[in-house]
Amino acid sequence: MVFGAAFGALHAGGHRSAGRRRVIRLSLCRPPGHHAGRDYYGGYCFLSSAAIAAQAWIDRTGSRCAILDVDYHHGNGTQDIFYERDDVFFASLHADPAFAYPFFSGYAEESGSGRGLGANLNLPLPLGTRWETFSAALTRALVTAQRFSPAALIVSLGVDTYKDDPISGFSLETADFIRMAETIRDAGLPTLVVLEGGYNLKKIGENVVAFLQGLEPHITSKTGLDFPRKKEHFSDPCRH
Ligand SMILES: [Zn+2]
Repeated sequence: MVFGAAFGALHAGGHRSAGRRRVIRLSLCRPPGHHAGRDYYGGYCFLSSAAIAAQAWIDRTGSRCAILDVDYHHGNGTQDIFYERDDVFFASLHADPAFAYPFFSGYAEESGSGRGLGANLNLPLPLGTRWETFSAALTRALVTAQRFSPAALIVSLGVDTYKDDPISGFSLETADFIRMAETIRDAGLPTLVVLEGGYNLKKIGENVVAFLQGLEPHITSKTGLDFPRKKEHFSDPCRH
């Protein structure tokens, strides 16, 4: 399952965009990956799907990319993997590690090192963060990422920023995931979305679909999926 998640992201992310048309891809991978580094696992994560997809993008296109991590928790593993590199820009919006996992990583002063200096941006946010605060940080992250001139964007999407997530402390509404995706869409980059955390099992599906609808308003009609909200669709999708 771990390899399936990683290779799902690899398959979804390792392709050139089709001509000048912006491409959006989604990897519904489980378990999440952003807490896994080169030689360690943690926080339910064993392989960093976003990092694998980013490396695949670079290997196959020769162009740089950006990773935007919007999970409630800092993506310490992904950060570590690219911390000394200048071909991947990593930005993370997350709960302040002074009170939230992973505690040792995710502070604002972590900006990369060596060739990677300046290619890492951490935006720790307070407990109870609502859309207004999150939105301002998201815009800052995207503006900074654009200065890096990435050819593609990989989004580590955690929906544990939802207000009723049982282990987290932000206050985003379902409609905020639509706004979040609309803001990301405005960056105009080929985009891969990789699923990270989210622990309110009854709301994961709804919040991910909200995000996708903000990213691509016609996605439902294109796929023919209507994401029926039967209870069984939300039964233990994580298993971690
Ligand atoms: Zn998380």
